[in-house]
Amino acid sequence: MCRQCDYSDLLKRSGVSLTVHRLRVLEVIGDSPCPLSHREIHRTLKRSRVVDRVTVYRILDLLVDKGVVQRISSGDRGFRYGLAPSSNHPSHHHFFCSVCGNMQCLDPGALPIDLQALQRSCASLIRNVEVRLDGICGNCLENRGAKDN
Ligand SMILES: [Zn+2]
Ligand SMILES: [Zn+2]
Ligand SMILES: [Zn+2]
Repeated sequence: MCRQCDYSDLLKRSGVSLTVHRLRVLEVIGDSPCPLSHREIHRTLKRSRVVDRVTVYRILDLLVDKGVVQRISSGDRGFRYGLAPSSNHPSHHHFFCSVCGNMQCLDPGALPIDLQALQRSCASLIRNVEVRLDGICGNCLENRGAKDN
């Protein structure tokens, strides 16, 4: 649970009217240490209440649209969802494990990007930066080692 964020206040400030499902979706995303897929969010929600897949998709679209949630592309042609960068949550890049499909948040500042230099070099306005590192996560490396022995 993030102690800094008041999720219902965050929705209100972003112009999203409050519903139980919207708040729950945001809580599930905010409480997770790593970005989640639609399937994972839906599965977690189903434990406590009845909500269909399409509703979850619609809510995710809305939250992304309003800048509350960030949609992150993963190496499996799908998406993961995490809290959008804010004063409580500095922007950061992600690592994607191509074996188990889990995504990890990297330390903010681990991969500094010189946006101004990039903008100058391509003479374009950059609106969004998404950097994804792909590889094999620690868990999967360990499992692999166990199998080899
Ligand atoms: Zn927070
Ligand atoms: Zn893995
Ligand atoms: Zn993240």
